[in-house]
Amino acid sequence: MKAAPLLLVGVGGIAAMALLVGAAASPPGRAATREALGRVGRFFTWAELSASSAATRLGVDNTPPVAAQRAMELLVAYVLDPLRAAVGRAVVVSSGFRSLEVNGAVGGSETSQHMIGEAADIFVAGFTAEQLAALIVRLRVPFDQVIWYAPERGGHVHVSLTARRPNRGETLHAPAAGGYVAWSPA
Ligand SMILES: [Zn+2]
Repeated sequence: MKAAPLLLVGVGGIAAMALLVGAAASPPGRAATREALGRVGRFFTWAELSASSAATRLGVDNTPPVAAQRAMELLVAYVLDPLRAAVGRAVVVSSGFRSLEVNGAVGGSETSQHMIGEAADIFVAGFTAEQLAALIVRLRVPFDQVIWYAPERGGHVHVSLTARRPNRGETLHAPAAGGYVAWSPA
């Protein structure tokens, strides 16, 4: 897959892609449990994109609603699948979709893109968070935000994509001291 042409895909293109991806991934009448939803894109499953230890602990369902499924399918198609293909090893999703209840339990932001299926927190073995964030930028895939977290704050990379408005292409670092600071790959 060539990454560069994706830069030219605007919001309209991403929304159109949503229809195509959605049509392929969710035949009508399919049971809406995470397990039954099966695979997403080439490399991911709904189980890993919506797994939540907090949901398990609280006994709440963390199955993404249809709109969040569509958003997550786009994130996989435009960002996570190309990243997985580029690194040639597992992209581990520590947190993808979060229901309102789960997001509250893990102390997520009230406006978290995780709650609408637009964000994932990821790790790749052999990459620091900063290296992984820099790789995503270098792949020239569209994204709304790429944020790499200091080890003290999880050491993961948060990446998001939206079809609701133009993507910001914002790159940030979340330092140990708290908050967020501007960051660009070296
Ligand atoms: Zn996140």
